[in-house]
Amino acid sequence: MTMLQEELETTENVNPYQTVQTQIETAAAILGLERDIVEILKRPKRVLCVNFSVKMDDGSVRVFEGFRSQHNDAIGPTKGGIRFHPDVNMDEVKALSMWMTFKCGVVNLPYGGGKGGVICDPHTLSKGELERVSRGFMEAIADIVGPEKDIPAPDVYTTPQIMGWMMDTFSRIKGSFSPGVITGKPLIVGGSKGRNEATARGCVFTIAEALKDAGKQLQNATVAIQGFGNAGRIAATLLAAQGCKIVAVSDSKGALYNPQGLDLAQVTQLKDTTGIMNYDARYHLQNPQDILELDVDILIPAALENVITRKNADKIKARIVAEAANGPTTPEADKVLFQKGILVIPDILANAGGVTVSYFEWVQNLMNYYWSEEEVNQKLRDVMVHSYRAVHDLAAEYKTDFRTAAYMISLKRVTEAMKARGWV
Ligand code: NAD
Repeated sequence: MTMLQEELETTENVNPYQTVQTQIETAAAILGLERDIVEILKRPKRVLCVNFSVKMDDGSVRVFEGFRSQHNDAIGPTKGGIRFHPDVNMDEVKALSMWMTFKCGVVNLPYGGGKGGVICDPHTLSKGELERVSRGFMEAIADIVGPEKDIPAPDVYTTPQIMGWMMDTFSRIKGSFSPGVITGKPLIVGGSKGRNEATARGCVFTIAEALKDAGKQLQNATVAIQGFGNAGRIAATLLAAQGCKIVAVSDSKGALYNPQGLDLAQVTQLKDTTGIMNYDARYHLQNPQDILELDVDILIPAALENVITRKNADKIKARIVAEAANGPTTPEADKVLFQKGILVIPDILANAGGVTVSYFEWVQNLMNYYWSEEEVNQKLRDVMVHSYRAVHDLAAEYKTDFRTAAYMISLKRVTEAMKARGWV
């Protein structure tokens, strides 16, 4: 850990860009990677910052700032989601694009990493304003994205509908139907069956493998989930269907905890209507952050980054932390969890199901031939189990944590591609 990293970790604001650079250095040192390769990989190849204006419902004009970062395209076009959130910033988007390169590497997809974000709070926008922000951002980045350049997808607070608007804007600019420019689209305009559930489903496959290794099974395992959106909510549903007991969930409004198990159907129904905090008040967690410290078999951070830090790492009691979110654990916290014997299934493996089925969607778009949901799920399972086993075996061989092993697999692939193309 660098001095700067140490300093950053003492504050609440750990910079994810510093985090990913530390993660690269750690794995590169074990692999003995050449310095010039590490220097290339420690920063994105291109970052675009755009300011675009949108006409609001009241007739005023508002300027929105957005970013698109393309980290490395040695293996193929860059790929990664677009986030709409008030706290989006350039360093976060850069870090997220770098995690995407390594995520695609772990599951062996022919992509490099990209990511985008727009500083906005979608909850305060009308549907029309949201559509105009989505179209405005796509117009602003249209020059650098495309089915063979950079392929966005959904992320925090962006939806299939938003992907549909963005695909339409890009197709209009190009003058031809271009479904392969973006994934996570509605099914009717080239989406893939199984994409909506893919991140959570992939995460569940890795959890099942981890439990199997520990001689346990999903049945009756207790689960706490921070974040109740695409990743967290669907993970809860899939795990409950396989016999897990969902004891705690949280969203941006608060957290619920019942050691006997929550009524998931009710929580889900409340999420769609008045909000999860209208659940029986006896089960409200006073401090929502405490959800991370509950005594459970499985903890799934499925919201934002930097939630497990040196401040709370020693209080984590879960046996398995499955990172559905990107970057929830800082490097310093990683060390503490490893020492405590807690298995962290790292983000670049645990949530790689999303980009894997995004890849399937893109392949289907390019060949204009669509697969059944069973076929998608089976292919996803093969990828996730195979990747999990590879990370597990390498971690055992090097007596290291899963994150470092996952980075090692990815770094090897990206390095090989850069060498094959004569970049180094
Ligand atoms: P989403 O917008 O569908 O859901 C986000 C959830 O987090 C919401 O329930 C929101 O209320 C909750 N949240 C926000 N702030 C919170 C806080 N402070 N405490 C607790 N909950 C909070 O987003 P998503 O797609 O589910 O993404 C969640 C995470 O998963 C992100 O880190 C994202 O990068 C990652 N991820 C998503 C995908 C995907 O396909 N959607 C793929 C890979 C990784």
